[in-house]
Formats: sequence, C-alpha cells, structure tokens
Amino acid sequence: MKTLKDYEFWFVVGSQFLYGPEVLDTVAKRAQEMADKMNATGLLPCKIVYKTTVKTPEEATDTVKAANFDGRCAGVITWCHTFSPSKMWLNGLKLLQKPYLHFATQYNESIPDKGIDMDFMNLNQAAHGDREHGFIAARLRMPRKIIAGYWKDKTVVGRIGDWMRVAVGVDVSRNLKVMRFGDNMRNVAVTEGDKVGVQEKLCWQVNTWPVGKLVEYIDAVTDAEVDALMKEYKKLYTFNTKNIDSVRYQAKEEIAMKKMLDAEGCMAFTNTFEDLYGMEQLPGLASQRLMAQGYGYGGEGDWKVSAMTAVVKAMGEGKKGGTAFMEDYTYELAKGKEYSLGAHMLEVCPSLAAAKPKIEVHPLGIGGKADPARLVFEGHPGDAIVLSLVDMGGRYRLVCQDIKVVKPIYKMPNLPVARVMWQAMPNLTTGVECWIQAGGAHHTVLTFDVSAEQMADWARIMGIEFVHITKDTTPESLEKELFLADLAWKLR
Ligand code: MN
Repeated sequence: MKTLKDYEFWFVVGSQFLYGPEVLDTVAKRAQEMADKMNATGLLPCKIVYKTTVKTPEEATDTVKAANFDGRCAGVITWCHTFSPSKMWLNGLKLLQKPYLHFATQYNESIPDKGIDMDFMNLNQAAHGDREHGFIAARLRMPRKIIAGYWKDKTVVGRIGDWMRVAVGVDVSRNLKVMRFGDNMRNVAVTEGDKVGVQEKLCWQVNTWPVGKLVEYIDAVTDAEVDALMKEYKKLYTFNTKNIDSVRYQAKEEIAMKKMLDAEGCMAFTNTFEDLYGMEQLPGLASQRLMAQGYGYGGEGDWKVSAMTAVVKAMGEGKKGGTAFMEDYTYELAKGKEYSLGAHMLEVCPSLAAAKPKIEVHPLGIGGKADPARLVFEGHPGDAIVLSLVDMGGRYRLVCQDIKVVKPIYKMPNLPVARVMWQAMPNLTTGVECWIQAGGAHHTVLTFDVSAEQMADWARIMGIEFVHITKDTTPESLEKELFLADLAWKLR
C-alpha cells in the first residue's frame, strides 16, 4: 500500500527564449528555490520537485508524457514566471492524464518601488504569463485546480497540500480493488450500481470472493496469531465483556480478512449479514479494526461506500479527526436540539472515537449468528462532512453535506453500538429535504479530515457530478441545480 510519502508532484515552469539565457537561468534557480522552501515548510504532505522550464512545444509534450508514465508522479503543478505562449503547451496538455494544478504566484512578494524597470518587468510577469497559460486550459475544458497567492504564504502552501491529497485520492481510485464477500442485501436499491460503469469512470475494480474462501482463511488462523492480536486489543480498548471467546473469534476474522485483502491487493471490502455461510459471527470489531487501518468498508454489500471510505481515508492520511463508514439511523426532532443519530449495526470506525473505545458483546437481532463483539464509543465533536456516491443511471453523483458533530445529548446506555450525533446544514429538516432530493443514501462516509472543497476537486478530476449541501442551500436552489445538472450531464 502506497502512503503520501511515496508520491511526488512535478513543478513545471513556463517561459520562452525571448528574454535570453540569463533570465532562463534565474527562472530555473528561483523555481528550484521555491520548491525547496515549500518542501521545508512541512505543510506539504508530498514532495514537490522542480522538473523543468518549458520553452518549446516539444518540451511541453515530453514533460507531460513523462509525467503520465511516472508512477511516483501524482500530479503536475505549473506556473509561468515569465510569459509562455500557450499554443506551444496545447498539444502536451491535451495528453495530460495526471491531476493538474495551475499555481498563479510570483517570485517576489512586493513591487520594488525604485527597483522596477523594464528588465524587472520582463523577468517578473506572472500576472501576464499566467493568464495566457490559464486560457488554454479553459479553452481545452481541462479539469484543473487554480490556486492564486504568494508562495511563501502558509495558507497558500496549505491549500497546495490539500490539493496534493486530492491528487493522491485520484491515484488511489485509479488503483483501487474492492473485495465483496457476498452480494448486496436483497432488494436494496441505493447500494446497487453499475460496476462496469464505475470502473470506466473511477477505475475501481469491484469483484466478489466466496464467503467459503474466507471461512477457510478463518479456520487457518492460529491461536498464537489470535493471542498476539488480543494483546493489541487490551492495549487499545477497555474490555467491557466476559465473553472472551466472542472477541477471539473477531480477532480471527480480522486476521483472515486482512490476509485475503492483502493477498489480492484490495483496500476495501464489503459483507452482508444475509451471507455469513459457515461463519460464527458477523464481523463487527474485525471490520472496525480494518477500517482503522485504512481499509474501506461498506455494510450490506455496499461497495460504493466502501470504496469511497478507502479513497477518503487515503486522502486524510495522518490527520487526526477520523474518517468512517456511517449510516443515518434516527432523529432527535425536539425543537432547538434537532440532530441526526448515526451508527451502524456494528461497524463504525474507531478513528472517530472521543475516548478509549470499549469492547462489548451483545446479541444481534438479524443474521441469526452468535453474539458479535464490537467497539462501542461516542464520536467526538467538530465540523465534518458526509459523502454519498449514488448511481443515477448512466452517471455517478457524489452528494456532500456539511455537518456539525456534537457530543451525543443522551447517554443511551442500552444502545449497543458506537454512536455519532450531528446537525446537518443548513438545519436538520431542510438538510434532510435537500439530501433526499439529491438521492443521497443512508450509508455515507463521514470525515473530519477531508474538506468539501477537496471532494469537489476530486469529483472534477474523476469527471463525476458533485452536489454540495451547505449552510446556504435551499430546496429551491438545489432543485434548480439538479435539473440543470441533469441536462448538462446528458450532453456529456
Ligand atoms: Mn447499513
């Protein structure tokens, strides 16, 4: 599995021969200095590498071709220190397959009052060059990110860092394999989808493996392996159960599923309580543990939410807020304290936990299997988003809603699962109206670590529809947006 440190981004600067070799030397030196200093801020999750100054059509095309085929290169960042005629970039940019950021910056922060003359203007004309450079991408309708600002500004460098995580999310998508244990839950619509369509669009390889194969893996797990994992459980969690056998079985499931996922190179998986043939328990603790390690998960065969969870977790690597598979369960509708209560049958990722999770064992009303162990905890408060990828028939739509997570207002001592409580934007009822209007599912990815802006950037690069429900969204404005989007997407 690749991590953020395994990726780099190419810094490609635009210029031309018009200004003489001295100017080009200065441009190259400064570009190298900018890359070095931005790397040194510690604000970039991946390395930025100054690659070249493009002065000819051949250089533009060769650089793009090299970027396309370099496995480490997750994206290209361009900037024009001087003027760089964009017809020479056209053929190259048409071939670009990597995420593209146009960084509209300039080397100097201020205009040197007495120092400015025409030589200075020829060297420092990013305002001029970046417009020429930006036009050609607009003309080509390229999906791109534009970030403007001074390259030493921490906010600006932070935004580049956020975009780098988006580009990594694109690479993760393009290489993602999802392991399905069993099919989707019978008769459920929103968890279904076109698996060929999703592979064409998002590159996800979604395939199934027999539950019986997993049972073979479970049976092969040794006591010593389980003992070692139980030690880790004791370190990380409070045991609130005497049913150690149930916990040990979950440990076996965790070990077995991880082995199978790793053997096939899968970073996401699904299962369903309707198909646990030969298994003693529905994986609860086991699925929660795998999510905490970065694997995507979706309940009831929901491979879309599983894959999205894996992608978002990869984008949020190293952040501390948490990302989890989530489900809208029930509401608090009393005036003035209107909240959604999110949970799942068992499987909420402990990365959201406000305090040390407890391992508990309780009966499960459905599935007809033994009482499964699971982690029980409260989600911590803070601003977050929920995401739902839905299949609209012929295209995919990513629905995103801003939420404010709060400490659950009730203790709920008899609720045997992890719980998260939040206020949807713009408010609970309007938020629900908008969500339902957009076709958002009951399963979501809840994340504190990746922003709506980043998900919009990701959706733009992947070429899918993005719908954002914010504090300013009204059902009327959303209805109009969805209607126009339907027309626009039919034309694509
Ligand atoms: Mn569910």
